[in-house]
Amino acid sequence: MKPDETVGYILKTVDYGDHGKILYAYTSSGIISAIARGVKKMHSPLRHLVQAGMLVTMHLSKSKFPTLKEASMVKYHQAIRNDIIKTTVASTVRELIYYNVNEHDDHPKLFNFVLKFLDVLDTTEAPLELLMVFEMKFLYFLGYGISFNRCSRCEVSEKLSLDLYTGMMFCEQHADENTSLIKHETYQPLQYYLHVDVLKFQPLKLNKTTQTILSNIIDSLYETHLSTKTKAKQLLKSID
Ligand SMILES: [Zn+2]
Repeated sequence: MKPDETVGYILKTVDYGDHGKILYAYTSSGIISAIARGVKKMHSPLRHLVQAGMLVTMHLSKSKFPTLKEASMVKYHQAIRNDIIKTTVASTVRELIYYNVNEHDDHPKLFNFVLKFLDVLDTTEAPLELLMVFEMKFLYFLGYGISFNRCSRCEVSEKLSLDLYTGMMFCEQHADENTSLIKHETYQPLQYYLHVDVLKFQPLKLNKTTQTILSNIIDSLYETHLSTKTKAKQLLKSID
């Protein structure tokens, strides 16, 4: 890659003028935006590249609001494109990134993770479980990680329950005052999703009911901490 090139994962595009688009891409330095002129014209070589979900190398002009001069594809994730669940998982991830990262986050780290995540999403047989891997790690990345191993009120580390709304952990003694506690055997997979190396991810092959319960726990944590409800995830629930 040349020094003035950037690899970006296109999060979304909006129309600009008659034939152009503005693109928002996630890169190792955060979200960048650029104008892509003329890309909606039939003969534009960039027409198929400037689309949400594309992983591209971009050559940008050096102005305050840069123009996309050239682009080339880094990798085409065929299976993600061809599978409605995988496509929707990828859009959920893009929405989460677009609405929640800010300039002070560790972008090289998250970007590197996103690249690995997309490769695994392309090949996995369990895209919905893999989405939970992303969600658990992303929540932690944003500073709302769950400390699974200790009661939030004392030092006890056994028989802990998880509070559905706050993500706080409680031991048996401190549990009574709370009403929405989830037992260890139920939330255990979330612990695996949080800690697993994504490249070594092995699906737990959970049944549908368990998967739904866990997904609802995650949604509840996101609503509490980020007030986020992505459109893509709503869609995922309706098609799954
Ligand atoms: Zn306690």
